[in-house]
Amino acid sequence: MADSDSSLSPSNLGSNVEKYQGERSSGWSEIDEWGPEKVLQVYDPDTGMTGVLVIDNTSTGPGKGGIRFADSVTPTEVFRLARTMTWKCASAGLPFGGAKGGIIANPSKVNQVEWVKSFAKMIRPYCPSQYIAATDVGTTELDMAVFAHEIGDMQACTGKPQELGGIPHELGTTGYGVSIALRTTLDFLKDVKRKGFKASRPLLDLTYSLDIKRNDIKVVIQGFGNVGSFTAKFLNDLDIRVVGVSDVSGFVFDENGLNIPQLMIDMKDKSKLSDLLVDNQHHQQQYSYDILDKDEIFNVDSDIFIPAALTGVINDNTAHQLLKHNVKIIVEGANIPTTPSADDYLVDNNVLIIPDFLANSGGVIGSFVEYQGRTEKEAFDLIEYKITNNVKRALYNSLSSTDKEGDTSKLNVRKVAMETAKQIVYRAMLLRKGAISVAREAYARKERVIY
Ligand code: NAD
Repeated sequence: MADSDSSLSPSNLGSNVEKYQGERSSGWSEIDEWGPEKVLQVYDPDTGMTGVLVIDNTSTGPGKGGIRFADSVTPTEVFRLARTMTWKCASAGLPFGGAKGGIIANPSKVNQVEWVKSFAKMIRPYCPSQYIAATDVGTTELDMAVFAHEIGDMQACTGKPQELGGIPHELGTTGYGVSIALRTTLDFLKDVKRKGFKASRPLLDLTYSLDIKRNDIKVVIQGFGNVGSFTAKFLNDLDIRVVGVSDVSGFVFDENGLNIPQLMIDMKDKSKLSDLLVDNQHHQQQYSYDILDKDEIFNVDSDIFIPAALTGVINDNTAHQLLKHNVKIIVEGANIPTTPSADDYLVDNNVLIIPDFLANSGGVIGSFVEYQGRTEKEAFDLIEYKITNNVKRALYNSLSSTDKEGDTSKLNVRKVAMETAKQIVYRAMLLRKGAISVAREAYARKERVIY
């Protein structure tokens, strides 16, 4: 096992060998003042398992982050996801730092249980003192059961099955949080108008253009897995209309609004949307679904776009399509779905973006509740409380930076929320160093985070 702060030393890289070696030859250029503290590349010759663990910053607590299991995993991707966790845990006021694990293979093409055990064995010295795992793309509560047993400590991961005292992400904690983030944003826009806040011209335009009843707003969701499907369910519970959902196999759309509870029933025991076509043929469903090409999601009019699938899907190609089709708000359910240049372009064009580290923190807040041995109900209550307050605070902080009369500046929630997260981590780093008076002074100057 290699353990290096500044370089990666891959030995056996499986199917991802070329990408990985490309990263190695170009050097590890991601280190900055925040981290990463540790980058481990692990290889188990007994099973062939190759993986990466990045512990980004532990000043606020042991690094928290899921294990991604996919053949597309690279150290750079794991690092970026770990960094997102650093900001996410700090923003949510949790006593965790940022980290992420990655196992490099298609889980259906290897012995998944053996590889998860193997990964656990290799990173055991860091678990749970510096790294606490969870599920991510390609891993489920069953993997967490295997992982915790292999480490020999139930505190080694969260998202475990209920039988092990877990609060599985499969209950929809992240999707619930995304729906709360959107509700909070809509309430904020209503407040700006109703209370007559001084706001910049672009924000007022946005407020007026969304001045419609909640169930007249049109939402589309990319991804109908854990995050996407539960986001749809909880938005439906809030009476917010979902007109389209897509996944890797296609796109289901109805401009009058999809019947989400029915779609969820029809999707039971199916792995992708296109499987609905088989039941269409056998008349086994109440509804007959049209399945469009998955990328048609970028070609329909909507007010709100929720990416809940992959990294980098909102990019230079798709950003202008979203704009053309009237998207006014993006709530990031997926991790790092927007490329930096697309982010600039959309913000410049007055699209309000609620960033991933605020919007999709429901999973890690639920994890914290599990870590404390508390209940599912407490998890959902804390997610609602924290996400409402954190999104509200970020929106109002953004508003106060653009409240001059005639101001044409845009509302950049990501930038403002990132500043807050950095202040929290910076103070924690100072405290760790023992620079208590400096940290106190820095702390006194800044507002409190909601704990
Ligand atoms: P998942 O594997 O359950 O679902 C992913 C979905 O994306 C699937 O429906 C898949 O078909 C779809 N998809 C894949 N490629 C697509 C494409 N090209 N176009 C449209 N859809 C496509 O994963 P998940 O757990 O729902 O995670 C989704 C995203 O949310 C990831 O970025 C993940 O890191 C992030 N996230 C997840 C959680 C969680 O608790 N699960 C928490 C925070 C962030």
